[in-house]
Amino acid sequence: MNSNYIIALDQGTTSSRAIVFDHDGSMIDSAQQEFTQHYPRSGWVEHDPQDIWNSQLDVLKTILTKYNPQNIAAIGITNQRETTLVWERATGKAVHPAIVWQDRRTAAYCDQLKQEGWTEKIQAKTGLILDAYFSATKCKYILDHIDNGYERAQKGELCFGTVDSWIIYKLTEGKVHTTDCSNASRTMLFNIHDLTWDHELLNLFGIPLEMLPSISESSEVVGYTSAKLCQKEIAIAGIAGDQQAALFGQMCTEPGMMKNTYGTGCFMIANTGSEVVFSKNKLLSTVAWKINGQVSYGLEGSIFVAGAAIQWLRDGLEFIEDAKGSESLAASVEDTDGVYFVPALTGLAAPHWDQYARGAILGLSRGTTKAHITRAALEGIAFQVNDVIDAMAEDLGDRPHELRVDGGATHNNLLMQLQSDLGNIKVVRPKVLETTALGAAYLAGLAVGYWTDIHSLKEQWRLDQTFESRTEQHKVQQRKKLWDKAVKRSMHWNNSDQIT
Ligand code: ADP
Repeated sequence: MNSNYIIALDQGTTSSRAIVFDHDGSMIDSAQQEFTQHYPRSGWVEHDPQDIWNSQLDVLKTILTKYNPQNIAAIGITNQRETTLVWERATGKAVHPAIVWQDRRTAAYCDQLKQEGWTEKIQAKTGLILDAYFSATKCKYILDHIDNGYERAQKGELCFGTVDSWIIYKLTEGKVHTTDCSNASRTMLFNIHDLTWDHELLNLFGIPLEMLPSISESSEVVGYTSAKLCQKEIAIAGIAGDQQAALFGQMCTEPGMMKNTYGTGCFMIANTGSEVVFSKNKLLSTVAWKINGQVSYGLEGSIFVAGAAIQWLRDGLEFIEDAKGSESLAASVEDTDGVYFVPALTGLAAPHWDQYARGAILGLSRGTTKAHITRAALEGIAFQVNDVIDAMAEDLGDRPHELRVDGGATHNNLLMQLQSDLGNIKVVRPKVLETTALGAAYLAGLAVGYWTDIHSLKEQWRLDQTFESRTEQHKVQQRKKLWDKAVKRSMHWNNSDQIT
């Protein structure tokens, strides 16, 4: 193989990136461009589809200029999930702003569907909780708000896609309209058992099959970039939603292996192998990837506020100069002196799912200092993650013994130690923390023979540090009880019905 590098395109919620990896799986270089977020109304979040594309193309071109397209073996794509786009097949022009995963405009419609009794059927088919988060109701909204949306879609004039589809359509100049199973599984239109678009759900949401992308594997050549755009036809050979890509980049390829990303929020996925595990604890069942005809599933739990609580200590309370400073401040005290901090600043996600919960700091006394509160914030992140691990353990019937971690906040050694202590779990931090991009690069490289097999990738995985529990578990149990009590106090806070 003469080509030297693989490029991962990481199309995220706030920026587009292009990252270069070499044969050892080392990150060589990257380019990044942020783009504008639009908040036209409370609860609405939009992106301009052209901004997504322009920023992604710009960073790709920057990297190609530096590394020469002849040296690129393949491109892998990973992306913000669920965000919904509709464009004209003939012109490649978007007909509506992209509705971003965070957008809540279809929440009332989802409530109506719940009342009509769709919750269980939707979970059984798609593995998802009926919610505005996913693409289906967003796509319906777009069709309902453009002229003759349904009719045009039915005639094949319109294309629906998540961000991966949009980027691929553009890179191939309209030749390829596809998505992979991991992204499809976040649309709430995809049957995760037979891996096809579900006719009953398409009917329910009024979405014609004619507008949907084909379904690809996560690691296969789906098309080639236009030579006009990239000077060479480069194989587009890997696709996965960001969290699934991170699971792959962490090489959590065996059932029972689990990763957690500590960024603004936390995203945890456990690999459940060829089996769909349905949650009794409000977790999501999702497709992790499909490679060589083999599908792997995952069980997923998201937490909305994790690193964001540290940002709040920095910007809101001005306790620290930067996020890193949280570690030394929290380490300056032995413990939290009885303080508990529930970081439900925008509500609670898995496994509690209470959008009316709000942040709470409890157990304050005259002796409380900002160091105690900061330590309680770090513990609050760890306790929340622990709640998801507990929910997963219950659903999986077995408690995973190891948690692989990545994301910005994993640089905080104290947080990692607290995670291990409070969760009684081994926390494993790899050297490469860019696991999302690495996962997309791995998927692409496997498809074109740049890497031979998953086994050879596993050998590339390098440990940075492990953290083992050092606390007596009976003490942890007492503190968990107080944490549970604190969570209960934070719940339903912002719901006016509860104020009497
Ligand atoms: P995202 O991809 O969601 O933007 P990143 O993975 O870049 O997130 O991580 C940034 C988040 O991690 C921020 O919310 C920041 O407050 C937090 N963070 C970064 N470094 C630390 C640290 N040393 N200790 C605690 N939190 C940190």
